[in-house]
Amino acid sequence: MNINILSNSEVQTLNEIIENAQNIVICCHKSPDGDALGSSLGWANFLSSCGKASTIVAPDAYPDFLQWMPGANSIVRYDKHTEQATTLLQNADLIFCLDFNGSDRVDEMKDALDASPAKKVMIDHHLNPRMETVLTVSHPNMSSTSELVFRIIWQLGKFEEMSKECAVNIYCGMMTDTGGFTYNSTQPEIFFIISQLLTKGIDKDRIYRNVFNNFSQWAIRLRGYLMSQKLNVFSDLHASYFTISRRDMRDFHFIKGDAEGLVNEPLRIKGMKLSVSLREDDRRDNLIWVSLRSVGNFPCNKMAEDFFNGGGHLNASGGRLNCSLTEAEKVVREAFAYYEGALTGWGPLPKSR
Ligand code: 5GP
Ligand code: MN
Repeated sequence: MNINILSNSEVQTLNEIIENAQNIVICCHKSPDGDALGSSLGWANFLSSCGKASTIVAPDAYPDFLQWMPGANSIVRYDKHTEQATTLLQNADLIFCLDFNGSDRVDEMKDALDASPAKKVMIDHHLNPRMETVLTVSHPNMSSTSELVFRIIWQLGKFEEMSKECAVNIYCGMMTDTGGFTYNSTQPEIFFIISQLLTKGIDKDRIYRNVFNNFSQWAIRLRGYLMSQKLNVFSDLHASYFTISRRDMRDFHFIKGDAEGLVNEPLRIKGMKLSVSLREDDRRDNLIWVSLRSVGNFPCNKMAEDFFNGGGHLNASGGRLNCSLTEAEKVVREAFAYYEGALTGWGPLPKSR
């Protein structure tokens, strides 16, 4: 089983960079998910086992159901502690950028990240890396950045020293980015890695419950409401969308993470190929967050680029619109119509607009 992914010169560069660093910061993308947190926390654990302290700086809040992750409570939030986060970025001599491919993905933290004089190293699995770095470890064929983190630690010969906390974080990231190993997870190496993580004493069933069975009563009621009252199904097109308004969020005492993964739910309908969710920002007017998920070879990232100012992976992408929810619904309907051929299977993918 070949776990190694770095070239010899990359190994050397990475070792040297870590060795020489004094002030290390780890950054992840806006609205961190299980993989952003798992890879960042796992990498921080690893650095600490090398005798190197580091601080994780995240652009904003992570979902409530990830609070339990080992080390999560010491993450510095840029939106909440802007001055402290800016100082950390400014004083850093090494910044690891984990689970994102460009500084636009850290949203409001972009200027502070770009302005930092620190050396930057990207470790990521999204397409099209676009940041000036001293080392870019970009592998879009990996299930998750957490898998990449494992492979790097393994290749550097540091698996023996890996703590249980590190293993928990890596497992959690791999699990969340593959929907509990139900997609993007057919590489045999993934299960070799899991078998190794289990030797560290992690309780994978408990990690699953912590993440997927940890909703409040209100979140479950909201999810039921959205699927029964707000879902628009276009059976002929094998596509559907639903909306989440600010009013829905208020009515159901919404907290971050309550709608996590819900965009996958309509894909459980037989024959469904595409699911889109539109969510009003909880504070800013005329800002709609778009999430897209697709099945098989329908490229939802192309639709996200064409219609929603976004992008992402073939089967999971996102974007945003600066308009009202009603106007956003119109855009979704236009997008569905534009891709009718590809969705019905009767025509080719349309040209990018
Ligand atoms: P989510 O629906 O969970 O917000 O995003 C799904 C996937 O799409 C994630 O892998 C994320 O990185 C990617 N994504 C979300 N928003 C954007 C965006 O605005 N631009 C790009 N390039 N990717 C995005
Ligand atoms: Mn990821």
